Amino acid sequence: MKVACFSTTKTDKRQFEKMLTPEMGIEMDYFDVHLSPKTVPLAQGFEAICVFVNDHADAGVIEKLSQYGVSAIVLRCAGFNNVDAKAAERHNIEILRVPAYSPQAVAEHALALMMTLNRKTHKAYNRVRDGNFTLEGLLGFDLFEKTAGVIGTGRIGQETVRILTGLGLKVLAYDPYPNERVTELGGQYVSLDQLYAQSDIISLHVPLIPQTEHMINRETMAKMKPGVMLINTSRGGLMQAKDLIDGLKSGQIGYLGIDVYEQEDNLFFEDHSEEIIHDDVFERLITFPNVLITAHQAFFTQEALDNITATTLDNLQDVKRGSVKAERCVRCEG
Ligand code: NAD
Repeated sequence: MKVACFSTTKTDKRQFEKMLTPEMGIEMDYFDVHLSPKTVPLAQGFEAICVFVNDHADAGVIEKLSQYGVSAIVLRCAGFNNVDAKAAERHNIEILRVPAYSPQAVAEHALALMMTLNRKTHKAYNRVRDGNFTLEGLLGFDLFEKTAGVIGTGRIGQETVRILTGLGLKVLAYDPYPNERVTELGGQYVSLDQLYAQSDIISLHVPLIPQTEHMINRETMAKMKPGVMLINTSRGGLMQAKDLIDGLKSGQIGYLGIDVYEQEDNLFFEDHSEEIIHDDVFERLITFPNVLITAHQAFFTQEALDNITATTLDNLQDVKRGSVKAERCVRCEG
């Protein structure tokens, strides 16, 4: 089966080359560009395409894929907000994903953002290398006995609850579908307003869907404790970035750690160090000393990559066989 792989990095190629075997009967062609209305013609002559978080398959792209005879979109990630599932269904195109590859990797990165923002190890590293051994400006706080709010307690949210309760924080949780494991771990489900009002740290682990889009905005930030730490390793669209800037300027937000950004597809996963960045909101955000941005790397551990590659190759073989696994099939989820 011929597969067009979009947004391919050197790491993706290395991973596939490590795990692809001739018996699988999969022939991969790699493209470094994102899938978009402009690049979709590259999919001509392929039976399936393989995409990542910043590839966009809207209704127009899906119509073209259908005309080219593409029968499946295989995602190398868990979230599928970048694919128009309804349009795919209309055109009988299967969407397959990797629902869980290492929830621990993402939860551990959320912790890394919290710890770095709090204890300022990124600044200390540079200071010490510079021969500056002063502590002024590096003051942190004990996480022990602070209150953390975890919004969304699916796979990654639960791992975040495990880590935070393990560190001795009180953990409040909110999810329309509460999970027993959270209470077993010592977390406590509360209303979203209670979580906002009582948490010193808030970590987002919800999918980007119409109900969660811009859920962190001027109104919701006003319900939070002044100086709150906000962590987002889920999707940039959960936060209204312009409102975050106002919140940071007023001090309502004391710390912001984000691994995702709403307009990240114009920036992340590429080297723009020699260019002028035209995104003024992003540029303003990075000027704050209490903002830490990583470029969508929460998933990026060797264990997670091996799981993503193995599941993606398994999904492609299922497409070839014409029988997909329900738990990885977006259409089966309804
Ligand atoms: P999941 O489907 O296991 O869990 C999502 C949870 O959110 C579910 O329990 C669901 O009930 C809950 N939820 C839905 N709507 C909600 C709402 N309005 N308020 C509160 N909770 C709500 O997903 P997951 O595997 O834990 O992943 C969470 C998100 O993390 C993904 O959707 C993806 O966007 C993101 N992610 C980011 C990275 C990264 O590298 N930064 C990697 C993997 C996943």
